Amino acid sequence: MQNRLSELTQRLRRISSEEVDVSGEYPSFLSDIIHEGQLSLGIDRISVWLFDDINHPVKLINVANTDWPAGQVPSHFQTEDEEDPLAFYPSLKYTDFPIYFSAISSGVSIAANDAEQDESTLEFNGIYLQPNGITTMLDTVIFKNGIPLGVVCCEGRGGVREWSETEVAYAEMIADCCSRRLLVKELWQLQQKLRLLAFQDALTGLKNRRYLMDFTRREISRHLRNGSTLSAVMVDLDHFKRINDKYGHDVGDVVLRQFSECCLQILRTEDCLCRLGGEEFLAVLPATKLDDAATVAERLRAAVEALVIKHGALRLQITASFGVCEVELQQPFSQSLKLADNAVYQAKRAGRNCVVVV
Ligand code: GH3
Ligand code: MG
Ligand code: MG
Repeated sequence: MQNRLSELTQRLRRISSEEVDVSGEYPSFLSDIIHEGQLSLGIDRISVWLFDDINHPVKLINVANTDWPAGQVPSHFQTEDEEDPLAFYPSLKYTDFPIYFSAISSGVSIAANDAEQDESTLEFNGIYLQPNGITTMLDTVIFKNGIPLGVVCCEGRGGVREWSETEVAYAEMIADCCSRRLLVKELWQLQQKLRLLAFQDALTGLKNRRYLMDFTRREISRHLRNGSTLSAVMVDLDHFKRINDKYGHDVGDVVLRQFSECCLQILRTEDCLCRLGGEEFLAVLPATKLDDAATVAERLRAAVEALVIKHGALRLQITASFGVCEVELQQPFSQSLKLADNAVYQAKRAGRNCVVVV
């Protein structure tokens, strides 16, 4: 390998610099790196293991493995559990392998030429090495901010092997490549969270105006295509300023939140309820005729009127005015917003706590 090192290093560096889709499971975006490493080192298997918790590790979880089919998670490891997607992945417990865990935690690579004899891998005797025919191991640590995050485990079956310094350095590079990919994954996850936040109203957790514009653009073209009706219900709380004036802004905020929850309970999941700003809201109702939207608005009105807002010992009741219109699919959406706004204005003029359909 010595002579070919620069060529192999070059290949690995290029492969790991590829822009990959990190939205999927670990094996899908680590697979190319470990397969390249397996080929270059001429070994039987490479697996990637990550600590469950970087600060207080209890388990090492096997997240990628050259034995797994085409970079996929074997189906029997998969779970629908979003809280703990790695629940069924193979793992090693700290308490079962304390020496190995300490070795990994020290950050130093383990070149266990003879895995049965090496003191760092002794614990695998009987339970892992012989049943899998593993005779030699080379483990290099994956770091994050200088702290061990996991390990790349290179395993051979052909008897004792003398790992050269060059091979150790190459395996360390594989670990660094994994570390970079894992960082990209983390950044991607952060970006997803930010994207959600960018479309959310911070006070109520409802969708915001930015989301509404995106949502209606998609819905308008879908409704144009299939010829169905899209309706909108605009809502404005009645005399909301009085609540702020009498009880303070904080109580006003509580009212806005409980009002939002109340409305969400009445609407369907495919409906979009957004906070336009202040105490004004808009519900967009896909595949809903004007008559049906008016019924929904009346149901919302009655629910808001019946809602008892609780805040400490305080009990408050509110009402709201509603404007209902059909979204004009051929016009810019701002046109429909004006229509709904005008309907709300009429509802205010008619004495509030009512629904006006235009
Ligand atoms: P109307 O029945 O005519 O709609 O009267 P109103 O008092 O509800 O309407 P107005 O537009 O006069 O007042 C709206 C109030 O909403 C004024 C503003 O202070 C309050 N407001 C806007 N955004 C927020 C918010 O985020 N939190 C709280 N607590 N109040 C808000
Ligand atoms: Mg208002
Ligand atoms: Mg108002």
